[in-house]
Amino acid sequence: MPQTPARVLIIDDDVSTIRLMADALSSEYEVVIATQAEEGFVQALNLRPDLILLDVVMPDINGFDLCRKLKADARTQPIPVIFVSALDTVTEQARGFELGGVDYITKPVEFPILLARVKTHTRLYRQTLQLESLAATDPLTGLANRRKFDECIQHEVARANRKRCSIALLIIDIDDFKPFNDHYGHGKGDDCLVRVARLLRQCVSRATDTVSRLGGEEFGVVLPDTDSEGAVSLANDIVTFFNEEKITHHYATQHDYLTVSIGVGILDYSALGDALIDPRSLIDVADEALYHAKESGRNCSKTRFLQQSFHNSVANAP
Ligand SMILES: [Mg+2]
Repeated sequence: MPQTPARVLIIDDDVSTIRLMADALSSEYEVVIATQAEEGFVQALNLRPDLILLDVVMPDINGFDLCRKLKADARTQPIPVIFVSALDTVTEQARGFELGGVDYITKPVEFPILLARVKTHTRLYRQTLQLESLAATDPLTGLANRRKFDECIQHEVARANRKRCSIALLIIDIDDFKPFNDHYGHGKGDDCLVRVARLLRQCVSRATDTVSRLGGEEFGVVLPDTDSEGAVSLANDIVTFFNEEKITHHYATQHDYLTVSIGVGILDYSALGDALIDPRSLIDVADEALYHAKESGRNCSKTRFLQQSFHNSVANAP
């Protein structure tokens, strides 16, 4: 697969050094520059380079302090930093590594060395990103996988706990999927899952909402900052959408097309005082709601609020 050239951010207060390094790199890389630490930080944040070449001695904020700041921010933390400095003692080089630098190049810069190290670290970084993305993706549907879902719900519930804002979870299960697989075969079953995933993505439009495949024919949608009205309305829209889409399923119990059941779990802090919620509790209420939807004849959505099982699912704030 063709890749875009790696983006290298050079942060150095000396314009002639920037020019020399940029000239050496520009045939193979997209080079962006900053002549001050603060400007460099903003560039790193906005442009997400694949590598930062960072000078150490700069006015105002020096390279070591900037590296500390980059490593403290989750958005810039993974970007590899190579220090480029005339400070060449072992102590200074060791300090660069301690602060999270992946390499240290001394000035005057030897260009074959610069090119070799830039090549190594941009390649490693791209490979890491690719592996992380693979590890978070369901290979069949391209949706977030169970692992990513767990990470996402942990993160979003922790955020909701801090901000005391409501959050909802939909668990969506395809009705009568076993007879679908049994009669049409697993190949068609897989095609069906891919199609369902695409339809769910179409229904869920906000960038902050994550659609995941939880396993088998079960999907999850985490909806941050969403109240019961919003969540229930989305769940009903999804149920209706599948009734309109009419994916053929002659072996379904109710209709001759595919339907879904949805459990909606809602965490609403207005009823929970200052309690801290465990993500598991939200999954449990959504599961209960899904069970209720299945019991109620499928092809519908049912809702449960977290406070209904308040006593056994809520850990009190310390
Ligand atoms: Mg300097």
